[in-house]
Amino acid sequence: MHLDKQYVLPTYNRNYINFTRGKNATLFDEQEQEYIDFTSGIGVVSVGHANERLANVICKQASSIIHISNLYYIQPQAQLAYKIAQLSGIEGKCFFANSGAEANEGAIKIARKYGEVNGEIKRYKVITLQNSFHGRTITTVKATGQEKMHASYFSPYPDGFVYADDIADIYNKIDDKTVAVMIELIQGEGGVYPFDKGEVQALHRYLKQHDILLIVDEVQTGVYRTGEFLASNLYNIQPDIITLAKGLGGGVPIGAILTTLDVLKAGDHGSTFGGNYLSSAAGCEVCDILSQYKQTQMDSVFEYFHQKLVEVFEEFRHLFTEVAGIGMMRALRCKDDQTQEAIYKLSHKHHVLVLKAGRSSIRFLPPLTITKEEIDKGFASLKAALQEVE
Ligand SMILES: *Cc1c(COP(=O)(O)O)cnc(C)c1O
Repeated sequence: MHLDKQYVLPTYNRNYINFTRGKNATLFDEQEQEYIDFTSGIGVVSVGHANERLANVICKQASSIIHISNLYYIQPQAQLAYKIAQLSGIEGKCFFANSGAEANEGAIKIARKYGEVNGEIKRYKVITLQNSFHGRTITTVKATGQEKMHASYFSPYPDGFVYADDIADIYNKIDDKTVAVMIELIQGEGGVYPFDKGEVQALHRYLKQHDILLIVDEVQTGVYRTGEFLASNLYNIQPDIITLAKGLGGGVPIGAILTTLDVLKAGDHGSTFGGNYLSSAAGCEVCDILSQYKQTQMDSVFEYFHQKLVEVFEEFRHLFTEVAGIGMMRALRCKDDQTQEAIYKLSHKHHVLVLKAGRSSIRFLPPLTITKEEIDKGFASLKAALQEVE
């Protein structure tokens, strides 16, 4: 803790709990005290902590080849691309990066090139939504529709981002320079806010008719977070570009772009680390574990979590305005920000980890493999925390 404070830049409001090991959705601190993890490290540890199958694959891969570079063909990368196409039902191709922001950067580059190559005038504008979140690089922070993220001390930002208030407002923001619309289907950081399926489908049809690309940022919603492999599968749409990251590597950093567009050519884009042997092998195993789990208990455990959440909402109605979300991406919207902060703090005290998000939300992104016993324990702790909120 001393070294962290002395030598690590203070860009985070850290909680100083010293976790030393984990097992599925349970974490242990140095005194072997148990915590239930309803965060999975912000939607990353999709197959749980210390997943045996994933750990074995990582160990095995690390003992043969970790990295060669994209100058050579990488077998597990090709396999992962194949799995992503199979599981999504989208006959596209993948590019691999290392994070969500980077995947979104690549998606924006594809859209910009598409806008240069197709049509008489260059189209470059990308419409995004208010309360969205697309990353922390200079470009993706500008793509993020939150004024507070566009601090003047980081300026100048790249041009060409236009913000719409909601799906309906996107139509008003389109002009002859618009090349793409980039949205999350369920806003994550923005407060677990799902958009209406019919409205999204109508938008997609309209964009297709007008040769405007649809980019869906599935960095948080992808890889079974909603109960389907992609939220796009749930919404029954085939966007031109989809980005993935958080849950794909089960904790090993990886990002991906899946696109049906034939736009990028050799030399247009690249990454030193992206899709290396280690992260691709991890991604393959995560996809296998979760697609098998989907065939057995995933839906019933997801439903169980939702039932428990609704029970808590009913029991503590005075603290909340709404229970929101889909699959294992859920939230309790608090009546105000002070209540949100109090619940967040007390949850740690009662050994259940939760997240904050926009719209005064307490957000839940448990490992997708969380057991019913862990769910029960976590909600018992959460109730104890809620009882202490004034
Ligand atoms: C987390 C997130 C990102 C950014 O991902 P990083 O890996 O932190 O760069 C982008 N988009 C969405 C929807 C996210 O939830």
